[in-house]
Amino acid sequence: MTGTPAPEAITGSVVRSILRWYRRHGRALPWRQTRHPYRILLSEIMLQQTQVQRVSEAYGRFLRRFPTLRALASASLREVVIAWRGMGYNNRAVRLHALARRVVETGGRLPRTLGELQALPGVGRYTAHALLAFAYRQPVPVVDINVRRVLSRLFWRMRSVDALQPESVIWTIAGELLPPERAFDWNQAVMDLGAMICTARSPRCMACPVVTVCRSRAFMGRAPRPRPKQEICFGGIPRRIYRGRVVELLRALPPGASLPAAELRRRLVPESTRGGAAWLETVLEGLARDGIIVREESPAARTRRVRLAS
Ligand code: SF4
Repeated sequence: MTGTPAPEAITGSVVRSILRWYRRHGRALPWRQTRHPYRILLSEIMLQQTQVQRVSEAYGRFLRRFPTLRALASASLREVVIAWRGMGYNNRAVRLHALARRVVETGGRLPRTLGELQALPGVGRYTAHALLAFAYRQPVPVVDINVRRVLSRLFWRMRSVDALQPESVIWTIAGELLPPERAFDWNQAVMDLGAMICTARSPRCMACPVVTVCRSRAFMGRAPRPRPKQEICFGGIPRRIYRGRVVELLRALPPGASLPAAELRRRLVPESTRGGAAWLETVLEGLARDGIIVREESPAARTRRVRLAS
């Protein structure tokens, strides 16, 4: 086993214990009931930056609106951003829409090989492996942050809750551990263990099915808690919240309508706040760069208007 001292006998029992735990405690999530590549792709993109609970609420609604990749591709970007409501990080809606159009332009079917999947816009190593494992049931590992955390702690002495092994090392060990005949369950099981038991800040080692062989369990109770990540803020509010508020205001407009930038500023930044105009300008710049909004100059009227991209 790559760089780890775990003997074969232990890894075999680890796999069995985690699979047994998963049979009893695994989460019944809607995207686990399908093998449809588009539905799985959608869930994976939604789950990238949004909690499972919120994805569960939005997933069915989005699929009713866009039941196929083709329906998604033929919609305008504005319609997709509107349907993305409640998910946050709207640039994923832009990427998903671009991906749908690319796939439809090239025949309409999501590819089935790693290389072709990773060539699609917004599809990285994780998402490509997730599609192969969950839609096409291929025996490949899937490594997200939960898997990386569980395997790091299990096989190495991690002395703080935020310590992790390098991603490349975890991909290798995940591939070596994978039981080919149970690949689907195994990948889902390790993710669930990371999400439910071996959590980022407060691992519940006493409820863990592999506590007796885990190399980090002694450190988890007394390990210093990591500080929450610092976000770029204005007036104590993170930039991502401002981005969401801009998009929310624009979602409410009828097709083709726009708002003057000054009006957006009036609604979003208190007039008395120094630097508010410059701050909002950077927020709008970022949204325009990500392709979510369009800014239209009107030199004659000396105004600038903003709308959702279409
Ligand atoms: S024993 Fe604790 S640290 Fe080790 S895998 Fe289980 S929950 Fe994570």
